[in-house]
Parts: sequence; C-alpha cells; structure tokens
Amino acid sequence: MDYLAGLNPQQRAAVENTQGPVMIVAGAGSGKTRVITYRVAHLIEKGVDAFNILVLTFTNKASKDMRERIGKVVGNEAKNIWMGTFHSVFAKILRVEAEKIGYPSNFTIYDTDDSKSLIRTILKEMQLDDKLYAANVVYNRISSAKNNLVSATEYLENDQIQAEDAGNKRPLLGLIYETYAKRCYKAGAMDFDDLLFKTNVLLKNHPDVLNKYQHKFKYLMVDEYQDTNFSQYTIVKKLAAAHQNICVVGDDAQSIYAFRGANIQNILNFERDYPDLKVYKLEQNYRSTQNIVEVANSIIANNKNQLEKNVFSDNEKGDRIKVSRAFSDNEEGKLVAEAIVQDRANSGLKYHDFAILYRTNAQSRAMEEALRKLNVPYKIYGGLSFYQRKEIKDLIAYFRLTFNPADEEAIKRVINYPRRGLGDTTVEKISAAADQHDVTMWQVICNPQQYIQGRIANQLNDFAVMIQSFAAESKKLDAYETALYIAQHSGILKELHTDDSVEGRSRYENIQELLNGIKEFAEREDIEDRSLAIFMQDIALLTNDDNDKNKDADTVSLMTIHSAKGLEFKNVFIVGLEENLFPSQMSLTSRTDLEEERRLFYVAITRAEKKLTITYATSRYRWGTLTSCEPSRFINEINPSYLELEVVKPAKSSFGDNSFDNERKSWSQQREFTPKPTTSTTTIRPKTTSILPKAHIPTPGFTPNAANEFQNGMDVEHEKFGFGKIVNLEGTLPDVKATVFFQGLGNKQLLLKFAKLRIV
Ligand code: ATP
Ligand code: MG
Repeated sequence: MDYLAGLNPQQRAAVENTQGPVMIVAGAGSGKTRVITYRVAHLIEKGVDAFNILVLTFTNKASKDMRERIGKVVGNEAKNIWMGTFHSVFAKILRVEAEKIGYPSNFTIYDTDDSKSLIRTILKEMQLDDKLYAANVVYNRISSAKNNLVSATEYLENDQIQAEDAGNKRPLLGLIYETYAKRCYKAGAMDFDDLLFKTNVLLKNHPDVLNKYQHKFKYLMVDEYQDTNFSQYTIVKKLAAAHQNICVVGDDAQSIYAFRGANIQNILNFERDYPDLKVYKLEQNYRSTQNIVEVANSIIANNKNQLEKNVFSDNEKGDRIKVSRAFSDNEEGKLVAEAIVQDRANSGLKYHDFAILYRTNAQSRAMEEALRKLNVPYKIYGGLSFYQRKEIKDLIAYFRLTFNPADEEAIKRVINYPRRGLGDTTVEKISAAADQHDVTMWQVICNPQQYIQGRIANQLNDFAVMIQSFAAESKKLDAYETALYIAQHSGILKELHTDDSVEGRSRYENIQELLNGIKEFAEREDIEDRSLAIFMQDIALLTNDDNDKNKDADTVSLMTIHSAKGLEFKNVFIVGLEENLFPSQMSLTSRTDLEEERRLFYVAITRAEKKLTITYATSRYRWGTLTSCEPSRFINEINPSYLELEVVKPAKSSFGDNSFDNERKSWSQQREFTPKPTTSTTTIRPKTTSILPKAHIPTPGFTPNAANEFQNGMDVEHEKFGFGKIVNLEGTLPDVKATVFFQGLGNKQLLLKFAKLRIV
C-alpha cells in the first residue's frame, strides 16, 4: 500500500505489527508520532472499526492534526476514532458512566481557578494561616495525591504521607483534602485530576464497565508516553489488559512534566508489565540538520539518568548554531525580531516557519514588543484561554448553574454579579448553613427561611427563580436561544454594555463572540444533540490553542518550551539562556531537577528543522528590577565547534529600555498581533468624532419588534445606540414616536415604524 512507502523499515515494522504490546522509545524527530498516525490508518485500512481504536495524545491540537492526517488516507472513517487527551477522552466516558460512581451525568468540571477558590473557602472556614497553607501548595498536594491514586481517606490513614506533610509543617493537609473532596462531590463537580482519578475508581469498582471499555477499545495507542502519570498509567494498563493490543511511544529524554507527577518509570514498568513486548528502535531523525541533532545529543549526554539511544540525521549538515548575546531583554527581543525579518527576506520562509521558545511566559513581553515594532505578525500559544476570561467565565457560570444548580463555585461567582444585594457576608452565611445542615448551597438558596436568618429571602428567591427559569427555557430552546436568553435575563449583557471603558467594550465583544460560537454549534448538522448542555460539556478542558480561529494565518509562533512538545519549525529561536532563568532558579538545588531542565533544553533544540539560534541577555528586568545575568551553563555544554558566536552592541534606538515600563502594560493584554495592511497610497479621511460612546454590537439574531408592542418604561435595544429605556410614547399607530433614554447618549426621539427596536 502506497502510504506505507513513507516509512523506514523499523517504522514500517512497528506500524504493521498491530497485535500485542509494542513500545517505541526513541529520540526526538525520529517519527514516533508518525508511526502512531500511520498505524491507525493502517488498522482502519485493514478493516478494524474506527470506533474500536483509542488514541491518547498530549494536547487537543495534536489529536486534531493526527486525525486530519489519518483522514487523508482513510477518509471519513477518521471521524470515528476515539482520539484526544486523557482528560477529554475520559471526561466523555465519565459523562456516560457518572451515575455509577454517584455523580450526575451533567457534572461540572472545575478548572484550576475553581479548585483554588474552593480551597481558599475551606482554608478560611478552618481559619488556617493562608501563608502556611497557601492555596497553590494545598492544590498541588491534593493534585499529586490524586495522580498517585491516593484518596482522601487513604491519605488520612497513611502515616507516612502525613508525616511527610507534618514535616512540612502542614499537618492538616489530609483534612483539607477530605473536605475538598466532599465539597466537590456535593457540588456535583470534578476537578481536572478527578477526571482521571474517578475513571480509575469507575474501572476498579465496576468490572462490567471495565469489561465494556476493554472490548470497545480493541486497539490502544499513547503518544508522549514518557509524560504520563501513575493515574494515566493505571487506566491504560487496565484498558489494555484483555486484548493487550497496546502501542506506546515516547522519549525518556523528553520527559518534562515530572513536576506534575509524570513518571519516567512508566516506560520501565512497561517492559515488566508486558513480557511479550516488542520494542522497536528508531534512530534516524528526519526533522533536523546534522548539526542540530549532534548538538542535542551532546547536551543530553550530560544527564546521568537516561536510556541509551543513538540518533543520527541524514539531512544536510546545516548551519552552525548561532549564539547571540544581547545587553538587555529588550535588545534580545530586537535582535530576534530583526533576524526573523532578515531570514524571511533571504530565504523565502513564511512567518509560520519561525518559532520563539522561552522558559517562562513572562519572557514573551520583550519579544512581542520588538515584533510589533517591526510589524511582524505573531501568535502566542498556551496563553490565557478565551474561556478563562472573566466575562466568559461569568456567563458560563450561569450556564453551569442552569444544568447543575449544586455547582458551588458557579453560585459564588454569579450570585451577586450583576449586583443584586447578595454580598460576601450572605454568601458566607449560605455556605456555612449548607455545611452545618449538610445540604447544598442551592438548597439553602431555595429555602432560606429554613436555614438562615436575615432579610435577604426575597433576593435569594429572585435568584433561585431566575436560575429555575433558565433551566425551564433550556428544555424548550436550542443552545443559542438558551444562551442568549441567559445572557439577557441574568443581566450580564446590560451590565457589560453600561461599562464604557475600552475593556468594557472588549468584554461585551467577547460575550458576543461566545454567543456567535454557540450559534455555530446550534447550527451544526453533524451532531444530534445540539443543546447548550452538550456545548458546555468540555469547555473547561479547552485551551487557547483549540480556539484558534486564524489557524491558517501566517504568524510567528511564541510559546513556552513546555507547550512546544511534539512540534517542529524550520527556524527556531530559544531565548533567555541565562543562569537562574534557564536552568531555572528552582532547579539548581537538585540533580533530578537540573536534569529535567536539561531535558527541556533538549526538547527546545530538537524543535528546529533547519536553523537554530540561542540568545541570552546580560541584564534583564525580573520581578520589576533590573538584574544582571550570567550565560546559561547549557551553552557551555555545547561543543564550541558547532557554534557561531555573535555579540550585539547596545544600540541607542527606540528599543531602549526606557520604553519598557510604559509599554509593558499595554502589551500584556493583547496576545495576538496582525499588522494593518500597508497601502502605497495614503487616503486622508475627514476626521470624524463618533457620537456614540462605543459602537454597539447588536445582539446576534437581533429581531426588532412591531411598533404596537412597546410601552412606557420598557427596556429596549437599538441596533446602533444599544440599550435604553422608553421614557415617553406619543402619537398614534403607525406613527408612534418614542423618546428613548440611551446610556451615555441621552434622550433620542425615534419613529417606531422605522427604528429597529427590540424589547429586552
Ligand atoms: P518528537 O519526539 O519531537 O515528538 P517524533 O519522534 O514524534 O518527534 P515525528 O514528529 O513523528 O517525530 O517526525 C518528525 C518529522 O520527521 C516529521 O516531519 C515527520 O513527518 C518526518 N518523518 C518521520 N519519519 C519519516 C520518514 N520515514 N520519511 C520522511 N519523513 C519522516
Ligand atoms: Mg512526537
């Protein structure tokens, strides 16, 4: 079959050997992901039902790419493969099976913010010192317990774990974990780690369910296996136990998530777990030039703990690796931006062939600033997801409550937003009463007289009735209509509309954007259930990169090295190669941590296909102060014969450090940049000052009402002027004239038969 022609003999053997356990541990760029992709295509070509194949990838984007490639060989069948991240695949399974483990099928997924907010509430209730018990630390301890499959009960019973934490002077962690787990359960919520933890519980306690999925997933494949944690390892092991058709691929030299519980041991365990294991070696790197591969090999050789591997490249020798020194982070940005402009002009590369990789997100600022100055379009990956923006989370919290009113974090988020006289004290009262009577906050809200004292019963009742009305409407309306109804009747649209600031306008636009997205969803023909509840299911698992509208746009990619895993670019810049930054300060105290940093550097280097540039600055703003920096030890570890050194003289240009503080603020919010197209002729337009405080974006699906439907005092929306209130009506139909007061504009007289007014 011709698609197999694109594989070397070892890759082909791994693809064709479809039965029984298979492992590939091989260096970067050797075609591991390619093997999985072709293997799935091959299985389907051989007649395996796509529904029986499960592929676990590290990011949603990786699975999307893979599915597209497989689709090119097998066509539409590719749609039916079970493919995604561990979290998204098992969230989907839990939706079906949740009731077996005592959860509602419409359970909420708490994101990290929700989890930490709940932890903060618990710490406050327990009156613990929030410095000693910092929410972050507590969150990480609970997360790590879950990823090691230690339940709260086991945690409390395990003297060793407790002693460890007592040693850390936090003896109450077990209790906090227990309370946290109870509260999540009561709220019908699972956090990210629960999606794996509870899957384990499900598969362990329900042999019938395990059996079902073992037979469903006859073929299992896992990419980036070196970064699985114990919880993931156990799920995979259980699912594969019956048929043993499991294929994992990974590279121990690229294990970079130990800090999140990933365990290289899973690779070693694999050989022990499957004595019949077939191991394939891939040694040829197809991605990079010889120079790049050799530099990567020489770096990783400094790590003591690693599996022996041989990686070579048959590609051209390539340029030497350029190392550039700059005098400040801004100079560093400038030299990278200039190099991109120049390389692009000389080589005919596109912007999307370039990537800038950094150790920490904060480093993007200097890069962004310099790219903007040279009008280079770029996109930041792995930044704040669209769904993590405040206004989006607010509206989504209403959606969450509509389907799961027990969701405490959603209640806390919106019970007083927009303001309705239910402040923090009330929330604390409700929460305490719920705890005391062992009921949900929602039950307290619905029956305040029974549980709390005070004169807030009316407001609480209004809130409860509102949420109930959303639930009732959602049964009658499609996803879009429900969402719009909630946006309007919760008061969020109006609240945002009255905010005249630039940020306010942008928030309003984001809400419109979300509504547009839901509208698209509601119109999709390839899915049966297009309700808002379905739209909501995996929203918490989406990242910035999944919401990538301009995926075909020609932009330079900026991302942390962690997010660059598995990717490749023709021309790569690794920036900020300085001691205390890369390797990071936190890694300098132990060999294990330092080796993880080195693996991170190895990952970064091996992303480059043709050209690699490493940069460092001799001074940098860190945490607001100018610090001087030493070049990273990693640079010294590279054999100098592969290097070409360059020093950039400090330049007195508009990039000077003084622009830093002023501009830092304005860049920080804007994560994507597309320069305006330049035209050769300049058109001078008359200066117009808008009469509007801000452009009104009419609600999608804006349908004006007929003139006879209006009454004095009504809240209305005008396509151009936005929200307003009718203050006077005069004349007779059809020539009724309305005076409407619009926020920021004052009174306007409108002839109803022409004015496109909508009742809000
Ligand atoms: P990483 O460890 O970085 O995840 P990997 O081992 O998964 O890398 P791939 O991404 O599968 O490697 O492959 C690297 C590049 O080499 C890709 O562009 C891929 O298409 C190409 N490649 C792999 N094998 C072959 C081959 N036999 N012939 C041609 N190109 C190949
Ligand atoms: Mg890969």
